[in-house]
Amino acid sequence: MAKTNQFFIEREQNKYEVVIGLEVHAQVTSASKLFSSSPTKFGAEPNTQVSLVDAAFPGMLPVINEFCVKQAIKTGIGLKAKINKNSIFDRKNYFYADLPQGYQISQYKYPIIGEGKVILDMVDGQKEIGIERLHLEQDAGKSIHDIDPTNTFVDLNRSGVALMEIVSKPDLRSPDEVNVYIKKLRSIMRYLGTCDGNMQEGSLRADVNVSVRRQGDDNFGTRCEIKNVNSIKFMQMAIIYEANRQVDLIEEGKSIDQETRLFDTKKNETRSMRSKEDAHDYRYFPDPDLLPLEISDEFISQIKDEIPELPDEKKKRFIDKFNLSSYEANILVSDIDTSKYFEEVIKNSDVKLATNWITGELFAVLNEKNLEISESPVSSNNLSKLINLIKDGTISGKIAKTIFEEMIDGDKDPQIIVDQKGLKQESDPKALEELINKVIKNNTSKVEEYKSGKEKLFGFFVGQVMKESKGKGNPQLINKILKEKLNG
Ligand code: ADP
Ligand code: MG
Repeated sequence: MAKTNQFFIEREQNKYEVVIGLEVHAQVTSASKLFSSSPTKFGAEPNTQVSLVDAAFPGMLPVINEFCVKQAIKTGIGLKAKINKNSIFDRKNYFYADLPQGYQISQYKYPIIGEGKVILDMVDGQKEIGIERLHLEQDAGKSIHDIDPTNTFVDLNRSGVALMEIVSKPDLRSPDEVNVYIKKLRSIMRYLGTCDGNMQEGSLRADVNVSVRRQGDDNFGTRCEIKNVNSIKFMQMAIIYEANRQVDLIEEGKSIDQETRLFDTKKNETRSMRSKEDAHDYRYFPDPDLLPLEISDEFISQIKDEIPELPDEKKKRFIDKFNLSSYEANILVSDIDTSKYFEEVIKNSDVKLATNWITGELFAVLNEKNLEISESPVSSNNLSKLINLIKDGTISGKIAKTIFEEMIDGDKDPQIIVDQKGLKQESDPKALEELINKVIKNNTSKVEEYKSGKEKLFGFFVGQVMKESKGKGNPQLINKILKEKLNG
């Protein structure tokens, strides 16, 4: 799918635009929970990370985790958002077996973070997506229905883990934009270290709100909310299915009910779960166990000092300082580890070559072996050595590719490979001239043809000389000397 914001659903008479707003649930990177000191490690034995607070024993009191507050503010700064110095924790009441409190502590009218924005780089230009708010809330426990045919099991390890709910404005218009938006959010939070963004482990999931309207209409259509989608692919599939379902209803003259739906990943369809409860169904009220959260200017400015260079700023610097294209810069900054690797490589080597080698050769290997750049089989140090060998003419670009293949196995030093295998490029004009003389002598008729105008044969001679040099001849020099000989 091309990364464009053009996405319409067409029927015989009408063309429909899709409108999407996301409520992203991002797990705060924190060693302990939002209101208790229990650990939050992923994959622990069920119910081993549960305190009396998390299990909602009577008389237990929540105590706010300052670190989680700091993480939310950091994220707010990353989203260029308003930090609210006063916010309030409410109880969102509902019954569920994995929610022992009978309510979730969340923020409702007064969230910690207000309006902000995220910039998307699409093929057809940049687009700004508005952020409505970010609030802190507790995660619920987990009900497990597939261990036993008649019983449901409950694991409270997640119960009380801090989540940031990041609510976008209904500014998204296509599955591609959703893809780029989620990746950008994840990238910002990884730079900040506030959420690891690991979707397989459930650290990042979203409720996807979808509506459709006829092209040109000013008013939004009625939305449906697809709950708890945990991969970008599924979000995109759910949006396409859901938008088509809504268009079909409209085309049949029916109306859309505002409801909460589930995405069935096996059948690729959304199903009604319940009609959308309104806020009053949750009987929100301020949690009497918690004081309003007040944040001082000092606390905010101290956090601001800890904010690293973020993707947008890094991109700008890469473009200005290293003369990269917007496309190249996007690739290099999208992941913080990639940008670090790149900056390490170019400390001692050519930027253009480094860009090409990282986004070309290296990415191909990482893809093939399904590795993160932090697990790269070739260290930044050895890649910069390889680039320097190309740059100073010791080896040709072609030989470099063979050397790279060997470096992958055990992060070998390219200089050692060059020495051991005698791969040094032949750049001695005398030695090359000898090879050229030999090729000319062995191909007298071709030389005649060339001289009488068949200039295309030049490539043939270069190839022959290269072969004589066993691939090690310096191509620029071969070109130069050959021209002199053949034209002279
Ligand atoms: P709720 O708690 O009822 O889900 P929120 O305010 O938390 O409401 O979230 C509403 C989400 O729905 C936001 O992401 C918003 O952008 C999105 N949204 C609102 N109206 C529409 C619409 N007509 N079409 C698509 N998305 C919408
Ligand atoms: Mg919601």
